[in-house]
Amino acid sequence: MVVIDTIRDRTGLERKLALNAYNVDRNRAHIWIIDSDCCLQCERQQCINCCPAACYSPLEDGTVLFSYEGCVECGTCRIVCNEFENVGWTYPTGGHGIQYRFG
Ligand code: SF4
Repeated sequence: MVVIDTIRDRTGLERKLALNAYNVDRNRAHIWIIDSDCCLQCERQQCINCCPAACYSPLEDGTVLFSYEGCVECGTCRIVCNEFENVGWTYPTGGHGIQYRFG
């Protein structure tokens, strides 16, 4: 399997993301992996490579760990998981989620 490093300057990106503020809804994940076993069939696992906030991480057993707390609500994971459509996606409840600073 070829892993493509699409985000080369991870440090610079993390510096910019750190400017934002987050009001995390601890009672409700607004995005979730529908069936973790389904990820075992997905050869490319593009959610890991494409999420700008690095919310998706590969696990040793081939499944994917998802953490919604740092999500920037861009919708990329919903688009790239187009083979299995295994990402449940909604916006956070009103008043929660990312608060953009400086655009
Ligand atoms: Fe990552 Fe964007 Fe999906 Fe949030 S919506 S988990 S930032 S790809």
